[in-house]
Amino acid sequence: MSQALSTDVLIVGGGVAGLWLNARLRQQGYATILLESGALGGGQSLKSQGIIHGGAKYALHGALTGASEAIADMPRRWREALIGSGELDLSGVRVLSEFHYLWSPGTLAGNLTSFFASKAVRGRVDQVKGDALPAALQHPKFKGKVYRLAELVLDVPSLIARLAELAGDSLLAGHDIQPIDEGDEWVGLRVDGREIRAQRIVLSAGEGNAGLLETLGLEQPRQQTRPLHMVMLKSPRLKPLYAHCLGGGPKPRITVTTHPSSDGQWVWYLGGDLAEADGVARSEAEQIAVARKELGNLLPWIDLGDAQWATLRVDRAEPAQSSLVRPDNAFLAEQGRLLVGWPTKLALSPDLSDRVFAALTRDAIQPASHPVAPELPRPPLGEPAWENLLP
Ligand code: FAD
Repeated sequence: MSQALSTDVLIVGGGVAGLWLNARLRQQGYATILLESGALGGGQSLKSQGIIHGGAKYALHGALTGASEAIADMPRRWREALIGSGELDLSGVRVLSEFHYLWSPGTLAGNLTSFFASKAVRGRVDQVKGDALPAALQHPKFKGKVYRLAELVLDVPSLIARLAELAGDSLLAGHDIQPIDEGDEWVGLRVDGREIRAQRIVLSAGEGNAGLLETLGLEQPRQQTRPLHMVMLKSPRLKPLYAHCLGGGPKPRITVTTHPSSDGQWVWYLGGDLAEADGVARSEAEQIAVARKELGNLLPWIDLGDAQWATLRVDRAEPAQSSLVRPDNAFLAEQGRLLVGWPTKLALSPDLSDRVFAALTRDAIQPASHPVAPELPRPPLGEPAWENLLP
C-alpha cells in the first residue's frame, strides 16, 4: 500500500549541494525530505579535492570575470560555519589545511605579474618562504616561489557526515522515482511506493539531474559533463601538500591535495591540467606514468619508490554552456514547483542555497504544518574513493 507524505521542500540528491540546502531549510523551520538513491556524498562530492575556492585560480586566466567576484566570499562563509558562527554549525568538520598554496616552479614567477595585479587576488595572497613553506616543499633543492591563498581545504567525508547529522530524520533512501501530476503541474514525486507532495521540489542530483529531467519529460535545463582522470597515491613518506603548481598556461599544471586514509597514511590526490583532456585520453597505466614523471621532476627529493598508485575517472556535472566553458556561479533554473540546480563547485553550495531561498521568498513559500512523517529508510554515508582503490 502506498504511503502518503507531505513536506515543504522535497530535495532529490544528497551530495553537498542537497545536504547543505536541506540543513539551511530545516534551520529556517521548513519541513524537508531529502531523497538519495545511492550513498550520501557518493557522487562528485566525496571525489572532490575539498578546496574552498575564493577565485584566485580563476584570476589566473588573466581577465577578471564575474566568477572571481561571486566566489570571493565563499571562504569567509565557510570559515564562519566551521567555527560555529555562520549560517550552519559545521564545528567539528575537519579542516585539512587553513590555506591552499600556489606554487610556481623555477622561473615561471615572472608570468604572475598580471595575476597579482588583478583585483581578485589583491590582499588575499602572500608569498611564503623558509619554515612557512608547505612541509613537502621544505627542501634545499626546492626552487621556485610559493604564495599562500586565503582558501581552505576541507575533509569532505567529515563535512558530509556533519551535514547528514543536521538532516535529522529528513533523509530517505529511494530509487524508483515517478512524477505526480495534477492538472498541468507536478505536485510531488512517487518514490518506491511513497507519494511525497511538496510545495517545491529541488533537483540537486549532480549528474543524476539529466536522468531525472528526462523522467519528468523536460528538455531544459540541459546538462554537460566534463570528464576528469584523477590520480591518487599513498605512501608513508608523503607529507601534506595543498597547492596548485603552475605551468605556463592559464590552468594549474597539477593541483595536489592531501587526504587522510583510514590506515593513518596520507593520500595525495592529483588534479588540475593533468586530469583534463590529455589525461582523460590516457589509459590508467599511462596516466600514472605521466603523474610519476611530473612529481619526479617537480619534487625529486620525495622518494615515491614504495607508493601505491591508482586513478579515478569521474565526470563533473554542470549546466550546459557553449564550448564547455566552466560555469562560474551556482546555477538554478525554475519551472513551476520544480527547481533544478548544480552548484558547479562544492565551495558554491551556499550560493545555490541562496538562490533557492530567493525563489522561496519571491513566491512567499512559508513553512506549513504537515502530519508527522513515519520513520524513513536512511541512505548510507559514502566513502572516499581511495579507501577502495588504495586498500
Ligand atoms: P553530487 O556530489 O554529485 O551529489 C549528487 C547526489 O545525487 C549523489 O549522492 C547521487 O547519488 C544522487 N543522485 C543521483 N541521481 C539521483 C536520483 N535519480 N535520485 C536520487 N538521488 C540521486 N569543487 C570545489 O569547490 N572544490 C574542489 O576542490 C573540487 N574538486 C573537485 C574534484 C573533482 C575530481 C570533481 C569531480 C569535482 C570537484 N569539485 C570541486 C566540484 C564539486 O565536487 C561538485 O561541484 C559538487 O560536489 C557537486 O555537488 P552536488 O551535491 O551537486 O552533486
